Amino acid sequence: MNATDSCHLIWLRNDLRIHDQPALFAAAQKQVPLEFVYVLDERLIGSTAWGFNRSGRRRLSWMMANVQELHRQLASFGHTLYVALGHPVDLITKRLAAGGVSQVFLNDEPGFEEQKDADQLRSFAAARGIPCSLFSGGDLFDFSQVSHFLDHQGQGFTPFRQKLERTGFVPHEPLQLPDLSRCSSSYTESIHGRDGFLVDCKQWQAQMGFKPEQKVPAHNDRGLVFELYQDLPVDSRGDFTPQPGERGGLERLHDYFFVGRSLQTYKETRNGMIGSTFSTRFSPWLAVGSLSARSIWAESLRFEATYGRNEGSEWLRFELLWREYFRHLSRLWGRRLFMPEGASTAHFPRTERASAPFEQWCTGKTGHLFIDAHMNELSSTGWMSNRGRQVVASYLVHHLHGDWRAGAAWFEHQLIDYDVASNYGNWTYLAGVGTDPRPNRVFNPDLQADRYDPSGSYRRKWTS
Ligand SMILES: Cc1cc2nc3c(=O)[nH]c(=O)nc-3n(C[C@H](O)[C@H](O)[C@H](O)COP(=O)(O)OP(=O)(O)OC[C@H]3O[C@@H](n4cnc5c(N)ncnc54)[C@H](O)[C@@H]3O)c2cc1C
Repeated sequence: MNATDSCHLIWLRNDLRIHDQPALFAAAQKQVPLEFVYVLDERLIGSTAWGFNRSGRRRLSWMMANVQELHRQLASFGHTLYVALGHPVDLITKRLAAGGVSQVFLNDEPGFEEQKDADQLRSFAAARGIPCSLFSGGDLFDFSQVSHFLDHQGQGFTPFRQKLERTGFVPHEPLQLPDLSRCSSSYTESIHGRDGFLVDCKQWQAQMGFKPEQKVPAHNDRGLVFELYQDLPVDSRGDFTPQPGERGGLERLHDYFFVGRSLQTYKETRNGMIGSTFSTRFSPWLAVGSLSARSIWAESLRFEATYGRNEGSEWLRFELLWREYFRHLSRLWGRRLFMPEGASTAHFPRTERASAPFEQWCTGKTGHLFIDAHMNELSSTGWMSNRGRQVVASYLVHHLHGDWRAGAAWFEHQLIDYDVASNYGNWTYLAGVGTDPRPNRVFNPDLQADRYDPSGSYRRKWTS
């Protein structure tokens, strides 16, 4: 292929999978060469107002491990995933300007920045007569289907869910795998081998603090691929290590539902803290899109068809609706999701910059063992239970009088399952500037410890 042949460009973001992938599915409908592009966003490596990078190494490692798995998977169909580091809009518009792309396909993302990126790309493409098609890839329902269930302020979760249920909406079935082998791979040496799509690996390595002996991103002979960063230390206290890629995600789904049948007891166990089956742990795959929410939903129905209706599978779908709710709220609020006062009109106390108590909170040195244990788990594994997240967030805001945005930024830095809508949505909720109908809700950390860690084993595990 040369640069003047027409191809379909698929811009991958948090949708690193082949199954139930609307943008990819649509792009592969015609026998047109396909070009897959992933841009590691340079803004993730930039510093925040709080003195640390937006994304820490653990989260980046998880993301890139998933990118690499997708690269391997696409390679098995004869395709290449081109990976670049930079500003996604700069790089993709540059690619479009180089010619040879007849249509662009991407899935919608709920974050303000991601929406702006997509808008900019679409304007650029429209001005050049290149159609740019946007799909709903990570949601259960299209925003257009459900946006009227949220009023201007966003409205609480319960009215949103009730309206959904009253209308009898159900997510549509996951999409079939597209036949990728009938489409050829688009590759142009002049574009993919050299121009815009090169990453200055050494610079990135230095910025991220990787030691020279650690694996660095590597070129291959057909573009650029990142090698997996497997060298991060694994804390032996961690109960669960997710395996990257959609195969890892689908295996976890199958194991949790059909092998261990843990779904059956999910409602009772979901507030746990120790072990690998008290909750599904789907969130790391959902965050990078190597597992689709609709597949989980569909499998939960298949579970019920096999084992009968049960509270566990119903409760899991309830939790998926929380995720859904925050995604649409994020689209509705846009930039407001990151404002100190969120959706409220209240004045909210804030420090504006990182303070000593905030640093103690981040590093697990507050002196409150239940809080410190959770913060240690977070920094050692990149994950924390939902119960833990609620308690430590409430503690930062209501006990340490910290700025909720600093806490949200620390979660963004650390969590391998970081998701802009769920993270900032839950933080505004807990800080009393979101859509909690009880905005003064405070979690008492002593009572929470007594109730959820009565023997103290969780505290001992993560503070010794
Ligand atoms: C302060 C705070 C920050 C959070 N930040 C994130 C984040 O960045 N990314 C993220 O995925 N989740 C976030 N959550 C939500 C929740 O804590 C995690 O989704 C959950 O702990 C992930 O573990 P799991 O997959 O085992 O969850 P399960 O209990 O097994 O739930 C299954 C799925 O339902 C969804 N879900 C469950 N609870 C929530 C919730 N409260 N809000 C939204 N979706 C939910 C998730 O997609 C989750 O994977 C946050 C919660 C709080 C209180």
